[in-house]
Amino acid sequence: MRALVFDRQGIDNLSVRSVPDPNPGRGEVLLKIMRAGVNPVDYLTVTSLKVPLPHIPGTEFAGVVQEVGPDVTGIKPGERVALYTRFFDGKCDMCLKGKQMLCRNGGRIGVDVNGGFAEFIVVKDTTVFPFTGEWELAASLSVAALTAYHALKEANVGMGKVVAVLGASGNTGMFAIQLAKKMGAKTVAVSRKRWLKEMGADVVTGYEEAEREVRELTHGRMADVVINSLGASFWEIGTSLLGLDSTLVTFGVMTGNQVRLDLSKLYSKHIRIIGTNRGSLEDFRELIEVCSDCRVRVWKEFSLEEGKDALIELSSSERNGRIFIDPTK
Ligand SMILES: [Zn+2]
Repeated sequence: MRALVFDRQGIDNLSVRSVPDPNPGRGEVLLKIMRAGVNPVDYLTVTSLKVPLPHIPGTEFAGVVQEVGPDVTGIKPGERVALYTRFFDGKCDMCLKGKQMLCRNGGRIGVDVNGGFAEFIVVKDTTVFPFTGEWELAASLSVAALTAYHALKEANVGMGKVVAVLGASGNTGMFAIQLAKKMGAKTVAVSRKRWLKEMGADVVTGYEEAEREVRELTHGRMADVVINSLGASFWEIGTSLLGLDSTLVTFGVMTGNQVRLDLSKLYSKHIRIIGTNRGSLEDFRELIEVCSDCRVRVWKEFSLEEGKDALIELSSSERNGRIFIDPTK
């Protein structure tokens, strides 16, 4: 099969190569990958994270079941599936608490083991779920939508809460807006992209005006939840939007990971800051139902051969939606 591979880290070291076809063993499924989403974690995988070499990146993908291994029941060749793209042992204390994303013996497909920037992949049958939506949405469930959904759940988003999402037009941002809306929240998309209105944002505001807009919307009470997936450069703006008894959720550091924190504001307003890391298998099961009609703004789709461009375009100032790799091209 063809796959996007690197032997040494660096975007320029990526190339498409012919590698041995994977075969499904006991409890495993061979998948033909139809679409793979491109995320910041893929960029970091190719440039700086500790990964086995040579390596195939790609943490987020969906496809068609091609073949199933011995003992696999409940899933058949030809089925369209979405994937929980982490592996876990199902036995450690974290797994027993239902936190498979923190499995002590687990890891990320596409980072710790080969990923989905390839024609085929073998995965565990416990991680594939039938999903008949469009391919871009199916692929987005693995990382972008799951991360947003889990973050909103951890922050107890519900009816009437005001949720401000920084970087709302980004991979997780567009799902955070849609899912918060489904949970009954009022949503503030901090972004320049007006199309977020069509995704359910009650207010779309630029960064300079964000504090004033949230103040107006809430009559001075400010946001109950702020989602910061961007990191350090947006820390001050994010914390300026927090109201009394509020929660800030963080899960991305593309703009840096060191911040200054005013502890007096933190305790006087009773603010919680929580970190989240994708989501659990149960979150994923729920997400497939909750997000079956979610929308994905697609900006560009690349072939495997163009994989390098797909990763470079991730940080383009022109970016206006999601980037995908289509391995069938
Ligand atoms: Zn475990």
